[in-house]
Amino acid sequence: MELIKIDEKYFLHKKVQNILMVVTTANTDFGIHPKFDNYKENMDFIKKSFGLSEIYTVSQTHSDIVHVCDEDFVSRVEGDGLITTQKNRAVGVFTADCVPIFLFDENKGIVSAVHSGWKGVYNEIFLNAIDIFIQKYNSKAEDITIYIGPHNMKCCYEIQDDLREKFLNHHRFKNNPNIFYGNNLNMIECIKNSVVSKGILEQNINLINYCTHCSNDVKFYSYRRDKESLNRIFSFIFIN
Ligand SMILES: [Zn+2]
Repeated sequence: MELIKIDEKYFLHKKVQNILMVVTTANTDFGIHPKFDNYKENMDFIKKSFGLSEIYTVSQTHSDIVHVCDEDFVSRVEGDGLITTQKNRAVGVFTADCVPIFLFDENKGIVSAVHSGWKGVYNEIFLNAIDIFIQKYNSKAEDITIYIGPHNMKCCYEIQDDLREKFLNHHRFKNNPNIFYGNNLNMIECIKNSVVSKGILEQNINLINYCTHCSNDVKFYSYRRDKESLNRIFSFIFIN
């Protein structure tokens, strides 16, 4: 991903044909949260900067709910994943340590953003997005591309014994020796494990290789490091 600067704000940016993926950063102060007074101002800034007519978001609850955002979709309903086929209307998720995941099928013109903490990984929310691609839009699994965004990675994401136990007993992950790095959970490995089981090709799984907790060259907000802060990064995808 390329780092770009717009009005003193830094964004990670990646274009694949006519699909654009963008992640806000904390290189300069740009914490975004729906509860903040300047939320609308920040979203309007993003719309203007990227030529968007709409940005769809959901009220994230660590669920496995994925919404299709058509013209009538109303943002802020409960859910953790969004899909759209509309041009210049972004779908995006807020994170600080959880995993933002982009999915798209450039042949069919479908894009998705998913928020996944350990619960989303455990419940494989991204598979619900893939199911909608395949069942509603007739995508072929081998045509779906995935980008795993900046999150608390295996270098830093230590979890407690009971959660470790839960993952070690997971029907899909239990035979994978790579999901732990010491006591740290490797969510990338889990996500790969899940999506490959759906027929996603390994070469179509890409990593935006930054840890929100310890990355220095590009900075992010980290829920664990920043303690009580509501600052979030915003990861969004759209068709141009
Ligand atoms: Zn780290």
